[in-house]
Amino acid sequence: STFLTVDWAIDWLRRSAAVVAENRMALIELDRVIGDGDHGENLDRGFSAVLEALDAQAPATPGAAFKLAAMTLMSKVGGAAGPLYGTAFLRAATTVGDAAELDAAMLGAALGAARDGVVARGKAEVGDKTMIDAWTPAVDAAVAAAAAGAGPAAVLDAAATAAESGAVSTDPLIARKGRASYLGERAMGHRDPGAASSALILRAAANAAGA
Ligand code: ADP
Ligand code: MG
Ligand code: MG
Repeated sequence: STFLTVDWAIDWLRRSAAVVAENRMALIELDRVIGDGDHGENLDRGFSAVLEALDAQAPATPGAAFKLAAMTLMSKVGGAAGPLYGTAFLRAATTVGDAAELDAAMLGAALGAARDGVVARGKAEVGDKTMIDAWTPAVDAAVAAAAAGAGPAAVLDAAATAAESGAVSTDPLIARKGRASYLGERAMGHRDPGAASSALILRAAANAAGA
């Protein structure tokens, strides 16, 4: 359809929780190699709490769903990723306001604001081997798809595909932000866990839209 509603936003969060739970061990393993091994556990705890919050009180708009995710992830995930994902969802919530329906252009704007929030907080650039290596190509692809007239599902599919490539692109890099930066060249050959989780979460958004 031409618009996504709160049902999509809730389904996105539920699918994110499911995919994070499924990939908990894989994300732990990625973070064990170039970090401290807690990324899968941190995110699984956070998204489990998001499911509980959704069950307690269903949000009425996409923005309210994003805000619920932001508050919950900020308080439950911890580490570097908690404030970063929390800020991403909070900026997306602010961008969409109390709109009942999101069109392709608004989705591109919300993803862009989410990415900008991660950058404002973490100061990472593309190539620093962080989640920004997934988010920035995802935003570029989403905005380009929306400008070319794609609908919301195709916009999210483009974002997820670009995020997946972006996560793979972190493999050869030396990290310049986060714990992996302490490893220098020893981080080379290993995927950034936050870029991997970002790709999973953006693919969940596309799947929820029926892409
Ligand atoms: P911690 O490193 O505190 O244990 P997590 O393991 O939950 O936190 O998350 C690590 C991920 O956070 C990294 O893989 C990276 O993608 C992301 N990250 C860390 N620092 C930054 C930063 N400054 N900017 C963007 N992303 C970052
Ligand atoms: Mg960690
Ligand atoms: Mg940690």
